[in-house]
Amino acid sequence: VGDGGKMILQQGCHSGWIEVICGPMFSGKTEELIRRLKLVQIAKQRVEIFKPVLDNRYDEKHIMSHSEQKFNCQPIEKIQHVLEVIKDNTRVVAIDEAQFFGKELPDVCNRIANRGLRVIVAGLDQDYLGKPFGQMPQLLAVAESVLKLKAVCMSCGGMATQSQRLTTQGETVVVGSGETYEARCRACFDPDLIVENAVPAIPIAKIAEQ
Ligand code: ADP
Ligand code: MG
Repeated sequence: VGDGGKMILQQGCHSGWIEVICGPMFSGKTEELIRRLKLVQIAKQRVEIFKPVLDNRYDEKHIMSHSEQKFNCQPIEKIQHVLEVIKDNTRVVAIDEAQFFGKELPDVCNRIANRGLRVIVAGLDQDYLGKPFGQMPQLLAVAESVLKLKAVCMSCGGMATQSQRLTTQGETVVVGSGETYEARCRACFDPDLIVENAVPAIPIAKIAEQ
């Protein structure tokens, strides 16, 4: 085996991986991401956090949970940008609201993990129509670890897996929280609610393709 064996062992020690945290709105994805990031800080590992500029719900420079926990982050337009900016001593890369990034998302995450970094990604697995969201399915397929969270259904108190849109707003991207969306279970979820009443809108799922 000789040198070749040593090299393989060394590569093993330095291998990175991809963790995905998914689920509907209000399921605690950002809270779970923040929980993991606090542990990374305790371990004194350098972390860089990114989110799409599009997600301007609360604050551009932070990832923020509905329970108002927050962490500094770098807002970026394209996920490829991460490859250009990550510093040499960074050990962990975190990405929130990943469903809004384009088709390069899985490849970029793979490249970062292949460099030996830990990649933690949080994002919606389905859009407001109940369709797989953007590149999340591809990312889930290549990830080493997947956590699928549930929220509380706001209609029946059951296990919510869907994000119900409550507005007929005809904007390109309807980014919102409390008033515009609520968590619903499979039985209480009604994707046609918006379609029946809405003025023509580009579904949020199309954004990732633009
Ligand atoms: P996500 O990032 O998945 O949208 P957050 O981490 O921002 O979720 O917020 C999770 C928090 O939202 C919960 O801890 C709780 O305080 C609050 N919350 C509000 N509505 C709900 C709901 N229907 N089900 C679960 N949690 C909810
Ligand atoms: Mg969130």
